[in-house]
Amino acid sequence: MSMADQGPTPSEVGQFYDQMMPFFETLWGSNLHVGYWPEETPELPLEEALERMTDLMVSKAGVGAGKRLLDVGSGVGGPAVKLAQATGCEVVGVTVSPAQAERARQRAAAAELAGRVSFQLADAMKLPFESDSFDAAWAFESLFHMPDRVQVLSEVRRVLRPGGKVIIADIVRGPELEAQEEVFLNNAFKVNAFIAAETYPPLIQQAGLELVELQDVSANTMGTLNRTTEYVFTGPTSETLRGAYGEQGYEAIKGMWHHAANIYAQHLGYVLIVARKPA
Ligand code: SAH
Repeated sequence: MSMADQGPTPSEVGQFYDQMMPFFETLWGSNLHVGYWPEETPELPLEEALERMTDLMVSKAGVGAGKRLLDVGSGVGGPAVKLAQATGCEVVGVTVSPAQAERARQRAAAAELAGRVSFQLADAMKLPFESDSFDAAWAFESLFHMPDRVQVLSEVRRVLRPGGKVIIADIVRGPELEAQEEVFLNNAFKVNAFIAAETYPPLIQQAGLELVELQDVSANTMGTLNRTTEYVFTGPTSETLRGAYGEQGYEAIKGMWHHAANIYAQHLGYVLIVARKPA
């Protein structure tokens, strides 16, 4: 049996996000992804860098009013709401976490966007949507949780209209990632698999999509690590985590984050990919 066969099921990933909601919301608010630091502004605070990463995805999506984007792995809805506000488009998000879906709906309602931004509990491995029904899609730091990227991307291709774009943001592995580090990350973050950046082009082709652009932004994301570590270990955010998970749970979280951040700094990276369904 390969490692992938032993990976977490979508419902286990959903339970993980339900349980880890206070962790992610305390540290990262509504943006459950790494930050982006442009080279000329290395001093940006974490909150702003998280928004910059969302802004980058919004600009790559290139949708406007009257268009419909599928958000594959929509978290608590921060990016979806921002996209809808910035562009006037419609957004449909899917997540496997019931708590996230609820929170995301509240966020859309609070922004008075409930008519244009919706969230469903659904597995991206079999999308509950009609073929040719979206103008664009994105998988924003979600594919590494899923059992089979080719299947998910084939599903995305099916629901896209011809010529429709898909934007992928994903954590990727470097050549030196050791097996025991991989097992640790897989357990701690319910990862199915991290793949190498160079594995993406053939995989996109297998899913019937055309590669438009692949950008390695690893260096721009590294600022996430120290700043998140500071929030985990010190100040009001650390008290919130202790309150949410208890003394023992908080100790476990500190150890887990510390180890994960070290592995990311040394052996992981980040890519932004644009692909498209053939016209
Ligand atoms: N894109 C969001 C959330 C990233 S966290 C953001 O950037 O803020 C990863 C998300 O992927 C979670 O919402 C999780 O529920 C979702 N996810 C993981 N596996 C999934 C699957 N099989 N189907 C649908 N969503 C999935």
